[in-house]
Amino acid sequence: MAQIIIKNLRKDFGDFTAVKESSFTIEDGEFFMLLGPSGCGKTTTLRMIAGLELPTSGEIYLDGEEISQRPPSQRDIAFVFQMFALYPHMNVRKNIQYPLVSQGMQRADIKAKVAEVSNILGITDILDRPTGGLSGGDRQRVALARAIVRDPKAFMMDEPLGALDAEFREHMSEELRVLHDRMKATTVYVTHDQLEAMQMGDKIVVMNNAVVEQFGEPQEIYDKPVTMFVADFIGSPSMNFLRFEGGVQKGDNSVTLSGVNLAVPKQLQDIQGDLVFGVRPEHISFTDDGTYRGLVLAVEYLGTTQIVTLDTPNGDLKARLNSSQVINVGDRVGLNFNPATITLFHEQSGRAIV
Ligand code: ATP
Repeated sequence: MAQIIIKNLRKDFGDFTAVKESSFTIEDGEFFMLLGPSGCGKTTTLRMIAGLELPTSGEIYLDGEEISQRPPSQRDIAFVFQMFALYPHMNVRKNIQYPLVSQGMQRADIKAKVAEVSNILGITDILDRPTGGLSGGDRQRVALARAIVRDPKAFMMDEPLGALDAEFREHMSEELRVLHDRMKATTVYVTHDQLEAMQMGDKIVVMNNAVVEQFGEPQEIYDKPVTMFVADFIGSPSMNFLRFEGGVQKGDNSVTLSGVNLAVPKQLQDIQGDLVFGVRPEHISFTDDGTYRGLVLAVEYLGTTQIVTLDTPNGDLKARLNSSQVINVGDRVGLNFNPATITLFHEQSGRAIV
């Protein structure tokens, strides 16, 4: 069991900065997601926590002890790689017990421990099989059993499901989450898949260009994104951005888009410059008498909901509506935006104002 505190962590590779002054806390027992696009610094952050890469500056605390300069063997952190490389010349049991044999554990203890983890993962019946003929799912379970068998303080997982096809991936992610809920071991999980992060994570760090953009619970990040990058990266379809000019004045609790007043969640301060009105597709509804209007360009049927693309005076937007509503391409409709859900951004900085 472990709490991990990351403080101003930085990694330079020559002139290139892969991770810039990053800070966040992973609480004991959390399933913690490092999320962001390819190349943003997720893997480098994970490798620094595990000790596979030394930071240029900053600190890493594991249960209160500063460990950033310690070798991996002295951190008691297990690293689960994307490729589940099992030892091909050993059967399942030998693969799982290998870390314990290397530690010099007693044979009876090894046997008990292997029985325990293979029971947790549901692989007791394949312990004597060679690894060669195993299905992808069983290989994954064996690899997980080998990682958890030595009771590390924390697990680092780098896109462990990355190589799997979509259906199997979903099944394994559920299995991983159930396994975590049973074991409650601190887990740091790297992914570029926002849906995976939202579904599995207790907390999420969103990274972009070597920088931590936001850190929080999935719902907080979804509902209250602090930057346009986060708002755009999380959610599918992503948040709509309606751009408008002119800033707002102190005390306003609405903004004016193409001559129409639209309410925002709270009173504003004086803000100059161009702004962006952010609204998620599911927070838009159609009304007969709305003064902010759009033209239906496309309708995409998704079963219980439909995604409607509209042309508006401030650009295209997508609305998610119940499929029971009859909507046709070419319809002109009034639009209602749920004021409590609106995020307003400063265009130039990309930062949320409310
Ligand atoms: P991906 O999902 O593609 O793995 P990532 O967010 O995990 O992306 P990192 O692997 O942490 O990103 O890499 C961040 C940046 O640092 C990338 O531009 C990468 O090319 C660079 N980088 C990583 N390791 C090294 C290294 N050893 N030497 C030089 N540059 C590196």
